[in-house]
Amino acid sequence: MLLELEKIKFPPEVAEKGPSGEAEYLKEGNMKGRFLGQCLDSCRWGSPYDIMYEMNSLEMTEFVKNWIEQNPDNLRFHYKELSKDFELPYIDREVCPINEEHKLRGKGLDGTIRCINEDIKRIKEGYLFTWKKFDSRSNSVRTEYSENRPFIEDEEAWEEYKNQKNKVTVLQRCGAILSDRGAVLPLAEILDRLNEVPGGHSFCKTKNCADAINKELDINRECFGHIVYDHYVLPFDGWYLAKYVQKWYEQLPKGTAPFTTPSVTDKLVKKTTTPDRVEVMKKKWNKIL
Ligand SMILES: [Zn+2]
Repeated sequence: MLLELEKIKFPPEVAEKGPSGEAEYLKEGNMKGRFLGQCLDSCRWGSPYDIMYEMNSLEMTEFVKNWIEQNPDNLRFHYKELSKDFELPYIDREVCPINEEHKLRGKGLDGTIRCINEDIKRIKEGYLFTWKKFDSRSNSVRTEYSENRPFIEDEEAWEEYKNQKNKVTVLQRCGAILSDRGAVLPLAEILDRLNEVPGGHSFCKTKNCADAINKELDINRECFGHIVYDHYVLPFDGWYLAKYVQKWYEQLPKGTAPFTTPSVTDKLVKKTTTPDRVEVMKKKWNKIL
């Protein structure tokens, strides 16, 4: 086999650090002139059909950006040409995933087709309860509405609730994605969709985290090992992953497809870090990507 199709041979002091050390080594100027596939396939765990990186989706995005920066005039993604029918992991569905009765559709400026049905709720005045949560079906933060009823055991409050006749009307636009085939997908979003274990994880062992918890709870103890989303799992090898990166790159002329967008970064940061570190991490990634 040609040397440039084989796994990269790392110096022993790098190899002993495993995939995360190998990825760092590659980012230090050691990907010049190499196929992206070779680089991606050299810093991973696993067999060709079941691989894992010690990086999350944003770190994978940064790794690819680094490779592009090392090879500005010579981007060699894969030794084979990309086949015409190779596709990005688009969302494409017939029926609204939130409510199959929803039939109205609208196309956004970015080319994404969404469900635009509006659900109407009538809620007793003074009892409206709203909260925001990330909704993967619309790939956005949705505001949810419900009625905040008192406990039935609290007779006085329950009577008051029962006697409230005034109602407020709440309109909730669905927003679920039906298809984003017409949209340009950011690399971080593509990589995140490919991840077999969304938020692939390990258990926290860092001192920083323990410090943050201790500050918040005013106690002194080790982090008990909450989940940290820092792993990336795929059912194919790094060479195949390089094809997705190539397809991402070729969406727009001159490689102007975005690495990420503020909303994708926001979503992925929230997925991969503890709440107290969200703002710090967002700043970090907005600067890098
Ligand atoms: Zn809908």
